[in-house]
Amino acid sequence: MSVRRGDSAHTGCGPIEDLVGIGFGPANLALAIAIDDHNRRNPGSEIHAGFLERQESFGWHRGMLIEGATMQVSFLKDLVTMRDPGSRFSFLHYLQEHGRLADFINQKTFFPTRVEFHDYFAWCAAEFASRVDYGRAAVVLRPVRGGDGETEYVDVVSRAVHGPDGESVRRTRNVVLGTGLTPRLPDGVSAGPHVWHNRDLLFRAAGLADRPHRRFVVVGAGQSAAESAEYLHRTFPDAEVCAVFSRYGYSPADDSPYANRIFDPAAVDHFYDAPEDVKQALLGYHANTNYSVVDGELIEQLYRTAYQEKVQGRERLRILNTSRLTAVEDVPGGARAVIRSLATGEDVTLDCDAVILATGYRPADPGELLGDLAGECLTDGQGRLRIDRDHRVLTTGRVRAGIYLQGGGTEHTHGITSTLLSTLAVRSGEICDSLVLGRTERDVLADGGAGAGAAEAALAGAQGRA
Ligand SMILES: Cc1cc2nc3c(=O)[nH]c(=O)nc-3n(C[C@H](O)[C@H](O)[C@H](O)COP(=O)(O)OP(=O)(O)OC[C@H]3O[C@@H](n4cnc5c(N)ncnc54)[C@H](O)[C@@H]3O)c2cc1C
Repeated sequence: MSVRRGDSAHTGCGPIEDLVGIGFGPANLALAIAIDDHNRRNPGSEIHAGFLERQESFGWHRGMLIEGATMQVSFLKDLVTMRDPGSRFSFLHYLQEHGRLADFINQKTFFPTRVEFHDYFAWCAAEFASRVDYGRAAVVLRPVRGGDGETEYVDVVSRAVHGPDGESVRRTRNVVLGTGLTPRLPDGVSAGPHVWHNRDLLFRAAGLADRPHRRFVVVGAGQSAAESAEYLHRTFPDAEVCAVFSRYGYSPADDSPYANRIFDPAAVDHFYDAPEDVKQALLGYHANTNYSVVDGELIEQLYRTAYQEKVQGRERLRILNTSRLTAVEDVPGGARAVIRSLATGEDVTLDCDAVILATGYRPADPGELLGDLAGECLTDGQGRLRIDRDHRVLTTGRVRAGIYLQGGGTEHTHGITSTLLSTLAVRSGEICDSLVLGRTERDVLADGGAGAGAAEAALAGAQGRA
Protein backbone atom coordinates (compact mmCIF):
# COMPACT_ATOMS: atom_id res chain seq x y z
CA MET A 1 0.00 0.00 0.00
CA SER A 2 1.63 3.29 -0.98
CA VAL A 3 1.71 6.60 0.82
CA ARG A 4 0.20 9.79 -0.45
CA ARG A 5 1.48 13.35 -0.34
CA GLY A 6 2.05 14.62 3.19
CA ASP A 7 1.74 11.20 4.76
CA SER A 8 5.34 11.09 5.93
CA ALA A 9 4.46 13.70 8.57
CA HIS A 10 2.51 11.05 10.41
CA THR A 11 4.33 8.64 12.66
CA GLY A 12 3.26 6.04 15.16
CA CYS A 13 0.75 3.86 13.35
CA GLY A 14 1.92 3.42 9.77
CA PRO A 15 1.02 5.51 6.76
CA ILE A 16 -2.23 7.43 6.57
CA GLU A 17 -4.56 5.50 4.32
CA ASP A 18 -7.26 6.83 2.05
CA LEU A 19 -9.69 4.23 3.29
CA VAL A 20 -9.97 1.52 5.89
CA GLY A 21 -12.93 -0.78 5.37
CA ILE A 22 -14.20 -2.65 8.41
CA GLY A 23 -15.49 -6.09 7.50
CA PHE A 24 -14.70 -7.90 4.28
CA GLY A 25 -18.00 -9.49 3.37
CA PRO A 26 -19.53 -9.07 -0.09
CA ALA A 27 -20.25 -5.35 0.51
CA ASN A 28 -16.69 -4.23 1.20
CA LEU A 29 -15.38 -6.79 -1.30
CA ALA A 30 -17.51 -5.11 -3.97
CA LEU A 31 -16.05 -1.78 -2.83
CA ALA A 32 -12.49 -3.14 -3.10
CA ILE A 33 -13.29 -4.13 -6.69
CA ALA A 34 -14.80 -0.72 -7.52
CA ILE A 35 -11.68 0.97 -6.14
CA ASP A 36 -9.43 -1.39 -8.09
CA ASP A 37 -11.42 -0.50 -11.18
CA HIS A 38 -10.95 3.24 -10.47
CA ASN A 39 -7.23 2.78 -9.82
CA ARG A 40 -6.66 0.96 -13.09
CA ARG A 41 -8.43 3.71 -15.03
CA ASN A 42 -6.76 6.56 -13.14
CA PRO A 43 -3.06 5.81 -12.68
CA GLY A 44 -1.47 8.50 -10.54
CA SER A 45 -4.63 9.18 -8.54
CA GLU A 46 -5.15 5.79 -6.96
CA ILE A 47 -7.18 5.33 -3.80
CA HIS A 48 -5.22 3.31 -1.27
CA ALA A 49 -7.55 1.09 0.67
CA GLY A 50 -7.10 -1.63 3.25
CA PHE A 51 -9.62 -3.79 5.09
CA LEU A 52 -10.03 -5.52 8.44
CA GLU A 53 -11.91 -8.79 8.68
CA ARG A 54 -12.41 -10.70 11.89
CA GLN A 55 -12.76 -14.09 10.20
CA GLU A 56 -9.50 -15.91 9.56
CA SER A 57 -10.19 -16.06 5.83
CA PHE A 58 -12.92 -14.95 3.48
CA GLY A 59 -16.29 -16.50 4.40
CA TRP A 60 -19.88 -15.73 3.44
CA HIS A 61 -22.37 -17.26 5.89
CA ARG A 62 -20.36 -20.47 5.96
CA GLY A 63 -22.58 -22.07 8.59
CA MET A 64 -25.47 -22.00 6.11
CA LEU A 65 -23.70 -23.29 3.00
CA ILE A 66 -26.20 -26.11 2.79
CA GLU A 67 -25.62 -28.44 -0.11
CA GLY A 68 -28.09 -27.65 -2.87
CA ALA A 69 -29.32 -24.33 -1.37
CA THR A 70 -29.56 -21.76 -4.13
CA MET A 71 -29.06 -18.02 -4.33
CA GLN A 72 -32.08 -15.80 -3.81
CA VAL A 73 -30.77 -13.34 -6.35
CA SER A 74 -29.85 -13.62 -10.02
CA PHE A 75 -26.16 -14.25 -10.75
CA LEU A 76 -26.35 -11.08 -12.86
CA LYS A 77 -26.51 -9.23 -9.55
CA ASP A 78 -22.97 -10.31 -8.78
CA LEU A 79 -20.36 -7.91 -7.40
CA VAL A 80 -19.89 -5.96 -10.63
CA THR A 81 -22.22 -6.63 -13.56
CA MET A 82 -24.86 -3.99 -12.86
CA ARG A 83 -22.12 -1.35 -12.83
CA ASP A 84 -19.71 -2.82 -15.34
CA PRO A 85 -20.83 -5.86 -17.35
CA GLY A 86 -17.32 -6.19 -18.81
CA SER A 87 -15.55 -6.50 -15.46
CA ARG A 88 -13.05 -9.30 -14.93
CA PHE A 89 -14.74 -9.86 -11.54
CA SER A 90 -18.07 -10.99 -13.01
CA PHE A 91 -19.63 -14.34 -12.17
CA LEU A 92 -19.50 -15.22 -15.87
CA HIS A 93 -15.77 -14.56 -15.96
CA TYR A 94 -15.36 -16.70 -12.83
CA LEU A 95 -17.21 -19.52 -14.62
CA GLN A 96 -15.03 -19.17 -17.68
CA GLU A 97 -11.85 -19.24 -15.57
CA HIS A 98 -13.08 -22.41 -13.90
CA GLY A 99 -14.03 -24.11 -17.17
CA ARG A 100 -17.74 -24.27 -16.33
CA LEU A 101 -19.29 -21.54 -18.48
CA ALA A 102 -21.01 -23.89 -20.97
CA ASP A 103 -22.00 -26.32 -18.21
CA PHE A 104 -23.56 -23.54 -16.17
CA ILE A 105 -25.49 -22.23 -19.18
CA ASN A 106 -26.90 -25.70 -19.86
CA GLN A 107 -28.52 -25.66 -16.43
CA LYS A 108 -30.77 -22.81 -17.66
CA THR A 109 -30.89 -21.06 -14.31
CA PHE A 110 -30.25 -17.57 -12.97
CA PHE A 111 -29.76 -18.99 -9.48
CA PRO A 112 -26.46 -20.77 -8.76
CA THR A 113 -26.02 -22.69 -5.52
CA ARG A 114 -24.78 -20.75 -2.52
CA VAL A 115 -21.77 -23.05 -2.42
CA GLU A 116 -20.83 -21.98 -5.94
CA PHE A 117 -21.48 -18.28 -5.27
CA HIS A 118 -19.36 -18.52 -2.13
CA ASP A 119 -16.57 -19.90 -4.29
CA TYR A 120 -17.06 -16.98 -6.70
CA PHE A 121 -16.83 -14.48 -3.82
CA ALA A 122 -13.71 -16.22 -2.48
CA TRP A 123 -12.15 -16.14 -5.98
CA CYS A 124 -12.70 -12.37 -6.09
CA ALA A 125 -11.48 -11.91 -2.50
CA ALA A 126 -8.24 -13.77 -3.25
CA GLU A 127 -7.23 -10.89 -5.54
CA PHE A 128 -7.23 -8.56 -2.53
CA ALA A 129 -5.58 -10.87 0.00
CA SER A 130 -2.67 -8.48 0.54
CA ARG A 131 -5.11 -5.64 1.36
CA VAL A 132 -7.07 -7.50 4.03
CA ASP A 133 -5.97 -8.09 7.61
CA TYR A 134 -7.84 -11.31 8.33
CA GLY A 135 -8.35 -12.41 11.91
CA ARG A 136 -8.52 -8.82 13.18
CA ALA A 137 -11.66 -7.23 14.60
CA ALA A 138 -12.07 -3.47 14.66
CA VAL A 139 -13.01 -2.49 18.19
CA VAL A 140 -13.37 1.28 18.11
CA LEU A 141 -12.78 4.38 15.99
CA ARG A 142 -10.95 7.33 17.47
CA PRO A 143 -11.10 10.85 16.08
CA VAL A 144 -7.75 12.43 15.20
CA ARG A 145 -8.01 16.19 15.41
CA GLY A 146 -5.98 18.65 13.37
CA GLY A 147 -4.60 21.99 14.61
CA ASP A 148 -8.01 23.61 14.06
CA GLY A 149 -9.70 21.07 16.36
CA GLU A 150 -11.55 19.37 13.51
CA THR A 151 -11.47 15.61 13.02
CA GLU A 152 -9.20 15.19 10.06
CA TYR A 153 -8.48 11.47 10.31
CA VAL A 154 -9.83 8.45 12.06
CA ASP A 155 -7.76 5.91 13.96
CA VAL A 156 -9.20 2.45 13.53
CA VAL A 157 -8.28 0.37 16.57
CA SER A 158 -8.30 -3.38 16.07
CA ARG A 159 -7.41 -6.55 17.95
CA ALA A 160 -6.39 -10.00 16.81
CA VAL A 161 -9.31 -12.37 17.24
CA HIS A 162 -7.03 -15.22 18.29
CA GLY A 163 -3.61 -15.11 19.86
CA PRO A 164 -1.80 -12.73 22.15
CA ASP A 165 -1.46 -9.85 19.67
CA GLY A 166 -2.54 -6.58 21.30
CA GLU A 167 -4.17 -3.52 19.80
CA SER A 168 -3.04 -2.02 16.56
CA VAL A 169 -4.07 1.24 14.96
CA ARG A 170 -4.53 2.32 11.34
CA ARG A 171 -4.96 5.99 10.55
CA THR A 172 -7.22 6.86 7.66
CA ARG A 173 -9.02 9.70 5.91
CA ASN A 174 -12.12 7.58 5.39
CA VAL A 175 -13.65 4.56 7.02
CA VAL A 176 -16.38 2.33 5.56
CA LEU A 177 -18.33 0.19 8.00
CA GLY A 178 -19.48 -2.97 6.23
CA THR A 179 -19.97 -5.19 9.24
CA GLY A 180 -23.17 -6.89 8.14
CA LEU A 181 -25.88 -8.20 10.42
CA THR A 182 -25.93 -9.71 13.92
CA PRO A 183 -28.01 -12.82 14.79
CA ARG A 184 -31.27 -11.99 16.56
CA LEU A 185 -32.47 -14.32 19.33
CA PRO A 186 -35.99 -14.30 20.76
CA ASP A 187 -36.39 -12.16 23.89
CA GLY A 188 -35.14 -13.92 26.99
CA VAL A 189 -33.45 -16.74 25.06
CA SER A 190 -29.72 -17.22 25.00
CA ALA A 191 -27.64 -19.56 22.89
CA GLY A 192 -26.04 -22.61 24.51
CA PRO A 193 -24.42 -25.93 23.57
CA HIS A 194 -27.75 -27.25 22.28
CA VAL A 195 -29.48 -23.96 21.48
CA TRP A 196 -28.02 -22.39 18.35
CA HIS A 197 -28.74 -19.60 15.95
CA ASN A 198 -28.97 -21.07 12.45
CA ARG A 199 -25.84 -19.15 11.40
CA ASP A 200 -23.89 -22.01 13.05
CA LEU A 201 -26.07 -24.79 11.67
CA LEU A 202 -23.51 -26.77 9.68
CA PHE A 203 -20.74 -26.47 12.28
CA ARG A 204 -22.97 -27.52 15.17
CA ALA A 205 -24.84 -30.24 13.31
CA ALA A 206 -21.54 -31.85 12.33
CA GLY A 207 -20.82 -32.32 16.04
CA LEU A 208 -23.96 -34.45 16.41
CA ALA A 209 -23.21 -36.84 13.57
CA ASP A 210 -21.97 -39.91 15.46
CA ARG A 211 -24.88 -40.66 17.79
CA PRO A 212 -28.55 -41.58 17.65
CA HIS A 213 -30.97 -38.66 17.33
CA ARG A 214 -34.43 -37.95 18.68
CA ARG A 215 -35.66 -34.60 17.57
CA PHE A 216 -34.72 -31.12 16.38
CA VAL A 217 -36.83 -28.03 16.96
CA VAL A 218 -36.48 -25.25 14.39
CA VAL A 219 -37.95 -21.88 15.33
CA GLY A 220 -38.85 -19.43 12.55
CA ALA A 221 -40.82 -19.15 9.32
CA GLY A 222 -38.31 -17.57 6.94
CA GLN A 223 -36.00 -18.97 4.28
CA SER A 224 -33.27 -19.93 6.75
CA ALA A 225 -35.78 -21.70 8.98
CA ALA A 226 -37.23 -23.71 6.11
CA GLU A 227 -33.74 -24.55 4.83
CA SER A 228 -32.64 -25.62 8.33
CA ALA A 229 -35.70 -27.86 8.75
CA GLU A 230 -35.13 -29.45 5.34
CA TYR A 231 -31.42 -29.93 6.01
CA LEU A 232 -31.90 -31.55 9.44
CA HIS A 233 -34.68 -33.78 8.14
CA ARG A 234 -32.47 -34.96 5.27
CA THR A 235 -29.27 -35.30 7.30
CA PHE A 236 -30.64 -37.09 10.36
CA PRO A 237 -33.07 -39.74 9.05
CA ASP A 238 -33.60 -41.10 12.56
CA ALA A 239 -34.80 -37.76 13.93
CA GLU A 240 -38.10 -35.92 14.05
CA VAL A 241 -37.94 -32.26 12.97
CA CYS A 242 -40.47 -29.87 14.51
CA ALA A 243 -40.88 -26.54 12.74
CA VAL A 244 -42.31 -23.93 15.11
CA PHE A 245 -43.70 -20.58 13.94
CA SER A 246 -46.51 -18.19 14.69
CA ARG A 247 -47.81 -18.07 11.10
CA TYR A 248 -50.33 -20.64 9.90
CA GLY A 249 -47.97 -21.83 7.19
CA TYR A 250 -44.74 -21.00 5.40
CA SER A 251 -45.46 -18.14 2.97
CA PRO A 252 -43.79 -17.70 -0.42
CA ALA A 253 -41.35 -14.90 -1.17
CA ASP A 254 -42.75 -12.45 -3.68
CA ASP A 255 -40.21 -12.50 -6.50
CA SER A 256 -42.63 -11.39 -9.20
CA PRO A 257 -41.11 -8.88 -11.63
CA TYR A 258 -42.88 -5.69 -10.56
CA ALA A 259 -42.27 -6.35 -6.87
CA ASN A 260 -38.67 -7.27 -7.67
CA ARG A 261 -38.11 -3.74 -8.93
CA ILE A 262 -37.85 -2.69 -5.28
CA PHE A 263 -34.30 -4.13 -5.53
CA ASP A 264 -33.32 -2.05 -8.57
CA PRO A 265 -30.69 0.67 -8.20
CA ALA A 266 -33.34 3.24 -9.21
CA ALA A 267 -35.53 2.11 -6.30
CA VAL A 268 -32.79 3.27 -3.92
CA ASP A 269 -33.16 6.80 -5.32
CA HIS A 270 -36.95 6.66 -5.07
CA PHE A 271 -36.80 5.36 -1.51
CA TYR A 272 -34.11 7.78 -0.40
CA ASP A 273 -36.06 10.82 -1.61
CA ALA A 274 -39.46 9.67 -0.30
CA PRO A 275 -41.07 11.16 2.82
CA GLU A 276 -40.77 9.07 5.99
CA ASP A 277 -44.36 7.79 5.92
CA VAL A 278 -43.92 6.60 2.33
CA LYS A 279 -40.66 4.88 3.29
CA GLN A 280 -42.49 3.03 6.07
CA ALA A 281 -45.30 2.07 3.71
CA LEU A 282 -42.86 0.73 1.10
CA LEU A 283 -40.99 -1.33 3.69
CA GLY A 284 -44.33 -2.76 4.83
CA TYR A 285 -45.74 -3.46 1.35
CA HIS A 286 -42.61 -5.23 0.18
CA ALA A 287 -41.44 -6.94 3.36
CA ASN A 288 -42.66 -10.18 1.79
CA THR A 289 -39.93 -9.98 -0.83
CA ASN A 290 -37.38 -10.71 1.89
CA TYR A 291 -38.62 -11.16 5.45
CA SER A 292 -40.30 -14.27 6.94
CA VAL A 293 -40.86 -15.76 3.51
CA VAL A 294 -39.61 -18.86 1.75
CA ASP A 295 -38.73 -19.81 -1.79
CA GLY A 296 -41.86 -21.36 -3.36
CA GLU A 297 -40.09 -24.53 -4.53
CA LEU A 298 -38.80 -25.25 -1.04
CA ILE A 299 -42.30 -24.89 0.40
CA GLU A 300 -43.61 -27.40 -2.16
CA GLN A 301 -40.76 -29.78 -1.38
CA LEU A 302 -41.38 -29.66 2.38
CA TYR A 303 -45.11 -30.14 1.89
CA ARG A 304 -44.55 -33.15 -0.39
CA THR A 305 -42.21 -34.67 2.19
CA ALA A 306 -44.70 -34.20 5.03
CA TYR A 307 -47.55 -35.62 2.95
CA GLN A 308 -45.52 -38.67 1.91
CA GLU A 309 -44.70 -39.34 5.55
CA LYS A 310 -48.39 -39.15 6.42
CA VAL A 311 -49.09 -41.74 3.73
CA GLN A 312 -46.35 -43.97 5.14
CA GLY A 313 -47.52 -43.52 8.74
CA ARG A 314 -44.25 -42.11 10.08
CA GLU A 315 -44.40 -38.35 10.38
CA ARG A 316 -40.89 -37.05 10.98
CA LEU A 317 -41.50 -33.53 9.68
CA ARG A 318 -43.99 -31.85 12.00
CA ILE A 319 -45.25 -28.32 11.57
CA LEU A 320 -46.21 -26.68 14.88
CA ASN A 321 -47.90 -23.64 13.40
CA THR A 322 -49.59 -20.75 15.23
CA SER A 323 -47.14 -21.49 18.02
CA ARG A 324 -44.19 -19.92 19.68
CA LEU A 325 -41.24 -20.89 21.79
CA THR A 326 -41.87 -19.72 25.36
CA ALA A 327 -38.91 -21.29 27.15
CA VAL A 328 -35.81 -23.26 26.32
CA GLU A 329 -32.99 -24.68 28.38
CA ASP A 330 -29.98 -26.87 27.86
CA VAL A 331 -30.39 -30.24 29.58
CA PRO A 332 -27.85 -33.09 29.69
CA GLY A 333 -27.36 -34.36 26.13
CA GLY A 334 -29.77 -31.90 24.55
CA ALA A 335 -32.30 -29.14 25.09
CA ARG A 336 -35.83 -28.82 26.40
CA ALA A 337 -38.19 -26.45 24.59
CA VAL A 338 -41.63 -25.30 25.68
CA ILE A 339 -43.90 -24.49 22.76
CA ARG A 340 -47.20 -22.67 23.29
CA SER A 341 -50.08 -22.89 20.87
CA LEU A 342 -51.26 -19.33 20.23
CA ALA A 343 -54.69 -20.75 19.34
CA THR A 344 -55.36 -22.78 22.50
CA GLY A 345 -52.79 -21.49 24.97
CA GLU A 346 -51.65 -25.07 25.60
CA ASP A 347 -47.98 -25.78 26.21
CA VAL A 348 -46.06 -28.81 24.98
CA THR A 349 -42.58 -29.67 26.19
CA LEU A 350 -40.23 -31.12 23.61
CA ASP A 351 -36.97 -32.79 24.57
CA CYS A 352 -34.63 -32.62 21.64
CA ASP A 353 -31.05 -32.84 20.44
CA ALA A 354 -30.98 -29.13 19.65
CA VAL A 355 -33.14 -26.06 19.21
CA ILE A 356 -32.24 -24.05 16.12
CA LEU A 357 -33.23 -20.41 16.33
CA ALA A 358 -33.76 -19.27 12.74
CA THR A 359 -35.06 -16.00 14.09
CA GLY A 360 -33.31 -13.58 11.79
CA TYR A 361 -30.75 -10.84 12.10
CA ARG A 362 -30.54 -7.23 13.18
CA PRO A 363 -28.11 -4.61 11.90
CA ALA A 364 -24.85 -4.47 13.85
CA ASP A 365 -25.01 -1.36 16.05
CA PRO A 366 -22.57 1.14 14.49
CA GLY A 367 -22.58 3.09 17.78
CA GLU A 368 -20.37 0.42 19.37
CA LEU A 369 -17.62 1.05 16.84
CA LEU A 370 -18.07 4.79 16.46
CA GLY A 371 -16.96 5.49 20.03
CA ASP A 372 -16.38 9.23 20.57
CA LEU A 373 -17.28 9.87 16.95
CA ALA A 374 -20.89 8.85 17.67
CA GLY A 375 -21.45 12.26 19.27
CA GLU A 376 -20.40 13.96 16.02
CA CYS A 377 -22.83 11.93 13.88
CA LEU A 378 -26.23 13.40 13.12
CA THR A 379 -29.31 11.35 13.96
CA ASP A 380 -32.98 11.54 13.01
CA GLY A 381 -35.96 11.87 15.37
CA GLN A 382 -35.75 8.14 16.13
CA GLY A 383 -32.06 8.20 17.03
CA ARG A 384 -31.03 6.55 13.75
CA LEU A 385 -27.95 7.73 11.91
CA ARG A 386 -28.59 10.20 9.11
CA ILE A 387 -26.86 8.94 6.01
CA ASP A 388 -26.26 10.82 2.79
CA ARG A 389 -27.25 9.31 -0.55
CA ASP A 390 -23.58 8.41 -1.14
CA HIS A 391 -23.63 6.36 2.10
CA ARG A 392 -21.59 8.91 4.02
CA VAL A 393 -22.80 9.39 7.57
CA LEU A 394 -23.83 13.02 8.09
CA THR A 395 -21.75 14.62 10.80
CA THR A 396 -21.28 17.96 12.46
CA GLY A 397 -19.08 20.39 10.57
CA ARG A 398 -16.27 19.47 12.95
CA VAL A 399 -15.55 16.21 11.07
CA ARG A 400 -13.63 16.30 7.80
CA ALA A 401 -12.86 12.57 7.74
CA GLY A 402 -15.39 10.48 5.86
CA ILE A 403 -17.41 7.89 7.77
CA TYR A 404 -19.42 5.63 5.48
CA LEU A 405 -21.94 2.96 6.38
CA GLN A 406 -23.18 0.27 4.04
CA GLY A 407 -25.39 -2.75 4.48
CA GLY A 408 -27.10 -3.22 7.83
CA GLY A 409 -28.09 0.06 9.43
CA THR A 410 -29.04 1.82 6.20
CA GLU A 411 -32.42 0.23 5.50
CA HIS A 412 -34.25 3.26 6.96
CA THR A 413 -32.54 5.56 4.45
CA HIS A 414 -31.71 3.42 1.41
CA GLY A 415 -34.48 0.82 1.51
CA ILE A 416 -34.99 -2.89 1.61
CA THR A 417 -32.10 -3.76 -0.69
CA SER A 418 -29.56 -2.38 1.81
CA THR A 419 -28.80 -5.67 3.52
CA LEU A 420 -28.87 -7.71 0.32
CA LEU A 421 -26.58 -8.32 -2.62
CA SER A 422 -28.81 -6.79 -5.30
CA THR A 423 -27.27 -3.35 -5.58
CA LEU A 424 -23.72 -4.01 -4.35
CA ALA A 425 -22.19 -3.41 -7.79
CA VAL A 426 -23.80 0.00 -8.16
CA ARG A 427 -23.53 1.02 -4.52
CA SER A 428 -19.80 0.32 -4.39
CA GLY A 429 -19.34 2.53 -7.44
CA GLU A 430 -21.26 5.32 -5.69
CA ILE A 431 -19.08 5.07 -2.58
CA CYS A 432 -15.93 5.01 -4.72
CA ASP A 433 -17.09 8.14 -6.57
CA SER A 434 -17.75 9.84 -3.25
CA LEU A 435 -14.24 8.98 -2.01
CA VAL A 436 -12.73 10.42 -5.19
CA LEU A 437 -14.82 13.57 -4.90
CA GLY A 438 -14.00 14.02 -1.21
CA ARG A 439 -10.30 13.62 -1.84
CA THR A 440 -10.31 16.10 -4.69
CA GLU A 441 -12.24 18.62 -2.62
CA ARG A 442 -9.67 18.24 0.14
CA ASP A 443 -6.84 18.76 -2.34
CA VAL A 444 -8.56 21.86 -3.77
CA LEU A 445 -8.91 23.29 -0.25
CA ALA A 446 -5.27 22.49 0.50
CA ASP A 447 -4.29 24.38 -2.66
CA GLY A 448 -6.24 27.42 -1.44
CA GLY A 449 -9.06 26.85 -3.93
CA ALA A 450 -6.85 26.77 -7.02
CA GLY A 451 -7.95 24.28 -9.61
CA ALA A 452 -11.68 24.54 -8.95
CA GLY A 453 -13.39 22.14 -11.30
CA ALA A 454 -10.82 19.52 -10.43
CA ALA A 455 -13.40 17.78 -8.28
CA GLU A 456 -15.79 17.49 -11.19
CA ALA A 457 -13.01 16.31 -13.50
CA ALA A 458 -11.91 13.71 -10.96
CA LEU A 459 -15.43 12.40 -10.63
CA ALA A 460 -15.80 12.22 -14.39
CA GLY A 461 -12.58 10.21 -14.42
CA ALA A 462 -13.82 7.96 -11.65
CA GLN A 463 -16.96 7.23 -13.63
CA GLY A 464 -15.02 6.47 -16.76
CA ARG A 465 -16.05 9.69 -18.52
CA ALA A 466 -12.60 11.27 -18.50
C1 LIG B 1 -27.79 -17.74 4.82
C2 LIG B 1 -27.93 -16.44 4.10
C3 LIG B 1 -28.17 -16.42 2.75
C4 LIG B 1 -28.30 -15.21 2.08
N1 LIG B 1 -28.56 -15.25 0.75
C5 LIG B 1 -28.73 -14.10 0.10
C6 LIG B 1 -29.03 -14.10 -1.30
O1 LIG B 1 -29.14 -15.15 -1.92
N2 LIG B 1 -29.20 -12.91 -1.92
C7 LIG B 1 -29.08 -11.73 -1.25
O2 LIG B 1 -29.22 -10.68 -1.87
N3 LIG B 1 -28.80 -11.70 0.07
C8 LIG B 1 -28.63 -12.84 0.76
N4 LIG B 1 -28.37 -12.80 2.09
C9 LIG B 1 -28.27 -11.49 2.80
C10 LIG B 1 -26.83 -11.10 3.20
O3 LIG B 1 -26.90 -10.07 4.13
C11 LIG B 1 -25.97 -10.66 2.05
O4 LIG B 1 -25.85 -11.75 1.19
C12 LIG B 1 -24.51 -10.26 2.38
O5 LIG B 1 -23.96 -11.14 3.32
C13 LIG B 1 -24.35 -8.82 2.79
O6 LIG B 1 -22.95 -8.54 2.75
P1 LIG B 1 -22.23 -7.63 3.84
O7 LIG B 1 -20.83 -7.54 3.42
O8 LIG B 1 -23.02 -6.37 4.02
O9 LIG B 1 -22.39 -8.42 5.22
P2 LIG B 1 -21.70 -9.77 5.70
O10 LIG B 1 -21.73 -10.78 4.64
O11 LIG B 1 -22.35 -10.12 7.00
O12 LIG B 1 -20.18 -9.38 5.96
C14 LIG B 1 -19.79 -8.56 7.03
C15 LIG B 1 -18.38 -8.96 7.43
O13 LIG B 1 -17.90 -8.08 8.42
C16 LIG B 1 -17.14 -8.82 9.36
N5 LIG B 1 -17.11 -8.04 10.60
C17 LIG B 1 -18.16 -7.73 11.39
N6 LIG B 1 -17.75 -6.94 12.40
C18 LIG B 1 -16.42 -6.77 12.26
C19 LIG B 1 -15.44 -6.05 12.99
N7 LIG B 1 -15.75 -5.35 14.10
N8 LIG B 1 -14.16 -6.07 12.56
C20 LIG B 1 -13.82 -6.78 11.45
N9 LIG B 1 -14.72 -7.48 10.71
C21 LIG B 1 -16.00 -7.46 11.11
C22 LIG B 1 -17.86 -10.14 9.45
O14 LIG B 1 -17.01 -11.17 9.93
C23 LIG B 1 -18.29 -10.36 8.01
O15 LIG B 1 -17.37 -11.12 7.27
C24 LIG B 1 -28.22 -13.99 2.78
C25 LIG B 1 -28.01 -14.01 4.15
C26 LIG B 1 -27.86 -15.21 4.82
C27 LIG B 1 -27.65 -15.19 6.30
